[in-house]
Amino acid sequence: MTNDNFAHRADDDAYARLDAAIDATVKVNADRNDKESRFPRENLHALSDAGWTGVLNEVQFGGLDCSHIDFAEAACRIGQVDASTGLVYVMHVGAAQTINLFGSTDQKERWLKSNNGRLLGTYSTSERATGGHWWYNLSEASRDGEDYLVNAEKSFTTSSGQADYYVVQTRTPGAKDQADIVFFIVDGTSPGIESRPWDALGVKANHSGAIRYINVRVPQRDRLGAEGQGKEIIYDGVSPVYLIGLGSVWEGVARGALNAAVAHTTRFVHRDRNKSLSDYQAIRQELGAAKVLVETLRPWRNELAGQLDALWRAGRPQSEILIPLTEFKVHAAEVANKVAATALTVTGGYGYHRGPIERAFRDARAAIAMGPSNVIARDWIGKALVGLPLELFYEGGE
Ligand SMILES: Cc1cc2nc3c(=O)[nH]c(=O)nc-3n(C[C@H](O)[C@H](O)[C@H](O)COP(=O)(O)OP(=O)(O)OC[C@H]3O[C@@H](n4cnc5c(N)ncnc54)[C@H](O)[C@@H]3O)c2cc1C
Repeated sequence: MTNDNFAHRADDDAYARLDAAIDATVKVNADRNDKESRFPRENLHALSDAGWTGVLNEVQFGGLDCSHIDFAEAACRIGQVDASTGLVYVMHVGAAQTINLFGSTDQKERWLKSNNGRLLGTYSTSERATGGHWWYNLSEASRDGEDYLVNAEKSFTTSSGQADYYVVQTRTPGAKDQADIVFFIVDGTSPGIESRPWDALGVKANHSGAIRYINVRVPQRDRLGAEGQGKEIIYDGVSPVYLIGLGSVWEGVARGALNAAVAHTTRFVHRDRNKSLSDYQAIRQELGAAKVLVETLRPWRNELAGQLDALWRAGRPQSEILIPLTEFKVHAAEVANKVAATALTVTGGYGYHRGPIERAFRDARAAIAMGPSNVIARDWIGKALVGLPLELFYEGGE
């Protein structure tokens, strides 16, 4: 099946609205939200009012019906001023896209379109019991009449305690094996959801804390796809959009840190020599090396995002480029860390103060841990390189 109507490029007006929301709201709130670990709800509302939280949604469900190229560009621009909001945005668009791809018309009406498209979604997959193997759940849903009951202990969920809906991954009731997975859309107001406070090194505003679902009742109409379809949803729904979005946020963080470093090093002047920091060749070497790293990301991002659009248009699984997307995530995470460190080096004590540069340095560390962690991801890439299967679900697993 081909999807000829999918993926228009966003026009100049849409980008003007995006930039206005970023400049007037996201940028303005970033430092305060970080300091107060305050969830960036106003930022998401501003992005939603600009239409961009529905970037991949069909027009009939209130979306912009735009391409993955536009989604990735938006994630990068948001990440450039605030990684926390960038991650909340990516998890939301990813959750919505999973509904776009696998949801029913009724689900799209209720979760994507209602409340003027302002409902905030997120992914809830990682479990305490299996750590960084976020695709692998030990939790299992049960049946209660026509409904399901979800019991799960999720170790991290961005926007936990804040989201209007959670796209939750767990095993099918009576699962026949570890890959017998089902997804649910869980209403954030359901009784039995307990979220823990979020207190971490960076991305302090994005509330990525632990969350428990205790006998949370989910009606059948909120099962996403079929029982047992979860493995396909992980590969073709959750992963591609998440990986391109995540890498794009980290590219944005790198760009933001470099811009802040350039601004300070060109502005600050040593009065004894009457030279700015950027007049020193050693400083320019550092900035130049960082610039080269940052510029590796944009063409790669556009190429991969364009491939995601082409695969979708051709009706082919987007997981065909899972490994290249993983490579992009790894590189973007490393570039964000290197460039943020450079920004701290060249701005000295100024950069070390509370503010955008030290925030980028702290935020970028999350990039390494977020699934697939760079360690796990490099193993996937190496396996693909030497012709071994990924074996996410393996013989002998519980
Ligand atoms: C800021 C932030 C936001 C997040 N948001 C979400 C979210 O919205 N939804 C969600 O579901 N999850 C989310 N996560 C969870 C994330 O995707 C990972 O699943 C989680 O960080 C893994 O936990 P861990 O590092 O404690 O795992 P551990 O498994 O304890 O990993 C510890 C170390 O071991 C390494 N390791 C683990 N397994 C292997 C292996 N097989 N081979 C080699 N090395 C290995 C890891 O790379 C890491 O270095 C988030 C995490 C963070 C930090």
